[in-house]
Amino acid sequence: MNVYLVFIIALLIFSYLLEVLVEVLNIRHIRTTIPEEFEGWFDEGKYAKSQRYLKDSTWFDILSSSIMLPLSLAFILLGGFRVFDDLARSAGGGMIVTGLLFAGLLMILAQGVSIPFSIYSTFVIEERYGFNKTTPKTFVLDIVKGLLLSIVIGAPVFAGVLWFFAHAGSGAWFYSWVAVAVIQLFLLYISPVVILPLFNKFTPLEEGELRDGIVAYADQEQFRLKGIFKIDGSRRSSKSNAYFTGLGRWKRIALFDTLIEKHSISELIAVLAHEVGHYRHGHIRKQILISLASSALMFYILSIFITRPGLYQAFGLEMTPIGGAPPIYAGMVFFGFLYAPISMVLGIITSFLSRKYEYEADAFAARTIPQREDMITALKKLSVDNLSNLSPHPLKVFLDYSHPPVLERIRAIRAETD
Ligand SMILES: [Zn+2]
Repeated sequence: MNVYLVFIIALLIFSYLLEVLVEVLNIRHIRTTIPEEFEGWFDEGKYAKSQRYLKDSTWFDILSSSIMLPLSLAFILLGGFRVFDDLARSAGGGMIVTGLLFAGLLMILAQGVSIPFSIYSTFVIEERYGFNKTTPKTFVLDIVKGLLLSIVIGAPVFAGVLWFFAHAGSGAWFYSWVAVAVIQLFLLYISPVVILPLFNKFTPLEEGELRDGIVAYADQEQFRLKGIFKIDGSRRSSKSNAYFTGLGRWKRIALFDTLIEKHSISELIAVLAHEVGHYRHGHIRKQILISLASSALMFYILSIFITRPGLYQAFGLEMTPIGGAPPIYAGMVFFGFLYAPISMVLGIITSFLSRKYEYEADAFAARTIPQREDMITALKKLSVDNLSNLSPHPLKVFLDYSHPPVLERIRAIRAETD
């Protein structure tokens, strides 16, 4: 039996079992009494509701994975990739055109399978807990825009990488990495003005008390304030958030309208101070560097496996050349399965760093705002409104959490000395 196939199937089953284990542990870790820190912030009914929300969404995730696992295994073992490859080849194009068709077919299949789950999650679960504000029109438009973006951006990138791997010999991984890195940085740079506005409306924060408070804080911190925007998060969900995005001249801080609605001015300044903290500590730059380093690693390992016939045979394909080149487009897709464990380890490392950065940004905010209690009440309001899990299992946090659990953040802020 093909060793790649055995490894990949074992991996798919292992990651499914790990997910179920972690989610079940997480549910069993629920505390039914309100933590002292949150006394008075929840009534019993709302606290119980937050736990029902966690259970509902977790069971739904487990159910989705339980359906996806056998579907994926069946597709692999029954030769689905072979069928798609034959279809793509039947169009009679060269290797790159065939590759784009092959990837396109897979994308349509993946979308088709995931849409029902996404509909249920948005219009049933999120709706049940009063979060959903997405209209069917927005939902459909989001899918269409996402598909168009993957065609406009993803297709040329995929074609370029295929070209390098077909023509550039042993340096292909390096050229691909450079090309993808340049495009990634360019997209990051233009996304606040070109891509994000496709999904949300950004309005410069209007004159008034909030704006004045923010300007005063920025002056105090000598932070060059260019773009503070309000975004219509309420178009999709009543959950609230704030984030920092972009590079260079178009970097901006976005505050969700839902956040502005529910927080006092000093709490909003605390949230903004947290975002400025990310900027001051160079977190965005560090995260970009890590992502560039991990894509270099990915392309390098890809270059080792892309020429192994066994990898293709595992999925029912031979490396029969097309237009003078082997079907490396398929090899790239197959490599994705092989790379999953490394990608998981990298994910754990980046989540760990991200949690560390959150503590640093909180500490920065606590040091630079007049009342650190404002940062704490802002975090509490966010947790209550978003029905966040106050007591996640440590293994869940270790594997998945990009932000530390709120109680730990609050404890760290209180422990921060001036
Ligand atoms: Zn943050």
